[in-house]
Amino acid sequence: MEILDGKKLSEQIKEEIKQAVILRKENQKKIPHLAAVIVGNDGASLTYVGSKVRSCEQVGFKSTLIHLESKITEEALISKIRALNNDDTLDGYIVQLPLPQHIDEEKILLAVDPKKDVDGFHPSNFGRMALEMDSFIPATPFGIMEMLRRYKIDVSGKHCVVIGRSHIVGRPISILMSQKNNPGNATVTLAHSRTKDIEKLTQKADIIISALGIPEFLKADMVKDGVIVIDVGITRVLDESHPKGYIIKGDVAYDEVSKKSSYITPVPGGVGPMTIAMLLQNTLLSCERKF
Ligand code: NAP
Repeated sequence: MEILDGKKLSEQIKEEIKQAVILRKENQKKIPHLAAVIVGNDGASLTYVGSKVRSCEQVGFKSTLIHLESKITEEALISKIRALNNDDTLDGYIVQLPLPQHIDEEKILLAVDPKKDVDGFHPSNFGRMALEMDSFIPATPFGIMEMLRRYKIDVSGKHCVVIGRSHIVGRPISILMSQKNNPGNATVTLAHSRTKDIEKLTQKADIIISALGIPEFLKADMVKDGVIVIDVGITRVLDESHPKGYIIKGDVAYDEVSKKSSYITPVPGGVGPMTIAMLLQNTLLSCERKF
């Protein structure tokens, strides 16, 4: 069994990005600039945005944090988004989800300029990705593909079961894994909450990508020997013995499943850090105007 060390790999990718920034500075080129918009005070969202901003500093990017009150109106948020679209100093920005209930996420998503949509959530980028055209790829699926590529894991012709069909993880990774590309060319089954007898699918899978958000959902008796397991899940589970009052759990019962797997990502330290590295990569691509 080999652990897919997302923490180590993300540090390597961030170092490459840092070197690219140093080179840009030496050549008097623009320094990449990422902005993050956060609405309200959700603890997990603040933590995610904080680590994105810190990572920007780590690689030498300029970063701007825009913290808005939870009672901001939809109109005011859209006008803020328009201002970001028109801000030529910015290469990209993200709007941290979830947004408060009175704001329609779809409207906000559509207001983002696709050229600055480094999260890759805008329909224009999603459509381009599905058509195998150059686009911003959502950071989590991008991170998983980069991990498979750098660990030289051959997924071609293998049966991949993706659990979860969200627009930001399950659906895009199912598309990417099936594309005529390297990594890619997998035969993909996309499972969700209406899937019957899910264990019958997972027991036959060569690769399982789990993105459903139920702690330790995937157990050892649901997988075959030699399976490749990518655990996207991040759930805070209350634990009073821990100083923070909670611990982070993935979708996979790691201790038992790792014994049967050929490769596995840990949680934390797997897909999570890769997501942040690929957000930085998208921002650098935007600055370089690769597409
Ligand atoms: P989501 O939007 O809540 O989607 C969950 C998906 O799981 C849905 O498609 C749902 O099916 C499916 N599902 C729920 N219960 C199921 C069951 N019992 N059996 C099979 N499928 C089931 O979640 P998400 O945004 O994709 O996130 C999933 C997990 O990944 C969360 O823990 C999240 O925190 C984590 N995450 C991690 C990263 C990272 O960087 N590592 C990034 C993003 C998300 P239906 O469609 O039928 O409802």
